[in-house]
Amino acid sequence: MIELHNIHKTYNAGSPLHVLKGIDLSIAKGEFASIMGASGSGKSTLLNILGILDTYDEGDYYLSGTLIKNISETRAAELRNRLIGFIFQSFNLISFKNAMENVALPLFYQGVSRKKRNALALEYLDKLGLREWAHHLPSELSGGQKQRVAIARALISHPQVILADEPTGALDSQTSREVMQILRDVNKNDGITMIIVTHERGVADSTDKIIHICDGIIEEIEQGKGVIAEDGMK
Ligand code: ADP
Ligand code: MG
Repeated sequence: MIELHNIHKTYNAGSPLHVLKGIDLSIAKGEFASIMGASGSGKSTLLNILGILDTYDEGDYYLSGTLIKNISETRAAELRNRLIGFIFQSFNLISFKNAMENVALPLFYQGVSRKKRNALALEYLDKLGLREWAHHLPSELSGGQKQRVAIARALISHPQVILADEPTGALDSQTSREVMQILRDVNKNDGITMIIVTHERGVADSTDKIIHICDGIIEEIEQGKGVIAEDGMK
């Protein structure tokens, strides 16, 4: 599903900052993996490269057999829409659109009619227990509800992989647990490859494979417990 060979990335804002220093990584279809490391270690940079939101300077990245290198923004957007779902710490919902419209958004970009995309959005909200919240704005939802809306939005275009950057970073322990359980269920039931960036041990422990990153290098790959702690994760 994902193959990285010797990926390097330097930011050139001011003095050059060599953030990724030779990442080799392979993630198979259907894996439930986490990327763990201290703040500033390069986790988001790596996830943004995986999500074709950013480019890299050296090495090769294959996504689903396609070499992601020197591709146009149009092609990158097309691959993102077709293959990848994103979940962020800060939810990234559009504040003036209701839950249903937020979930339906990826289908808008695919040219699906309003009637059809809203009907599908309601189906996904229903799956995530949010049917009654469909017409509420993000500001009227709790953190856990917002993240569930974001998960529904990620799922609606049937991605092959979901990339989640600190998905529980803004949530309390119990809500984090619920969100991790949903991601696990999605992984199991739909076979979607899941890559979760976190700096929380409890979150990493609930995945099957923990990729430890330190100063832009993969330090260790550890087998996770794959169980979601009964007593929350923080
Ligand atoms: P993490 O997600 O592990 O906290 P990041 O990948 O966000 O780490 O950042 C790694 C390093 O790169 C940090 O020192 C950060 O300040 C720097 N950095 C991140 N994004 C940019 C950018 N767009 N321009 C310049 N420096 C950046
Ligand atoms: Mg980060």
